[in-house]
Amino acid sequence: MTRIAFIGLGNMGGGMAANLAKAGHDVRAFDLSPEALARAKAAGCLPAASAAEAADGAEAIVTMLPAGTHVEAVYTDLFAASVAPSAILIDCSTIDVATAKRVAEAARNKGLAAVDAPVSGGIGAANAGTLTFMVGGSDAAFKRAEPILSAMGKAVIHAGANGTGQAAKIANNMLLGATMVATCEAFLLAEKLGLDAQTFYDISSVASGQSWSMTSYCPVPGVGPDTPADHDYQGGFATMLMLKDLKLAAAAAADSGADTPMGAKAADLYQRFADEGQGGLDFSGIIKMLRR
Ligand code: NAD
Repeated sequence: MTRIAFIGLGNMGGGMAANLAKAGHDVRAFDLSPEALARAKAAGCLPAASAAEAADGAEAIVTMLPAGTHVEAVYTDLFAASVAPSAILIDCSTIDVATAKRVAEAARNKGLAAVDAPVSGGIGAANAGTLTFMVGGSDAAFKRAEPILSAMGKAVIHAGANGTGQAAKIANNMLLGATMVATCEAFLLAEKLGLDAQTFYDISSVASGQSWSMTSYCPVPGVGPDTPADHDYQGGFATMLMLKDLKLAAAAAADSGADTPMGAKAADLYQRFADEGQGGLDFSGIIKMLRR
């Protein structure tokens, strides 16, 4: 049993903290939302009055927060409090690469190990303990984080140094955003040219246009496996979260000098879809906008 502080008990963090408690860890939980804290208590975590209180005496401190500013604010509070020098900081939030590197450096200056460990998989995977973690940090830090992450996921992959977990996450999601838009376009073009969606799926899913967006997450209702398209694009991965990741990818591309025109175009299109008030719809729902 490890004593773990868990900070950020929202849609994702709630289920993840519950899985750590279920695995027998002593989880001290904190969130600014009293409702989230009450849910964590019901799931077997011990509620704390602040991030610092949760982290006091913890061997690992897991954060699952909205964005880089939140992570930096919480880490600043923790550094000012009494975090054991043997504690490891594990940030599972999706944040910008620059902040991920900066907070890891700040942790190192305090003598603390830190990893960025963003996840692939949505709320269902967080609740089921089947997330995939992409981890950035030293070999030693990865070895310490791995058993904790394993209690919340089905795969824990070491990507490299600090920041590379976030790099893997945003590069993957930029590819996903662009292939989803391209998959929607291909279905619409096929339809205009007189092919029905099922026929196009049967051909393209075994031809060179195949991708995860087509065969696992088909944006057309009634075709392929059950996906958010079969539920009027409710549930799944919200457009506003895809847009967040595409913006992080654009910022990282600008910082690093990478040319990513397809990623930029996907970001523009998702921004337009969100501006139409559709930010809460699954990201495959962008086919509705492209159809018009
Ligand atoms: P969420 O908004 O549901 O939860 C975030 C929680 O953090 C909230 O409960 C909020 O009260 C809490 N919080 C904010 N600032 C805090 C602070 N200073 N101290 C303590 N608690 C604080 O968000 P989510 O959907 O759980 O996403 C969390 C992270 O996971 C994000 O970075 C997101 O991009 C990433 N992610 C989400 C999904 C998804 O499907 N929801 C999938 C993969 C990755």
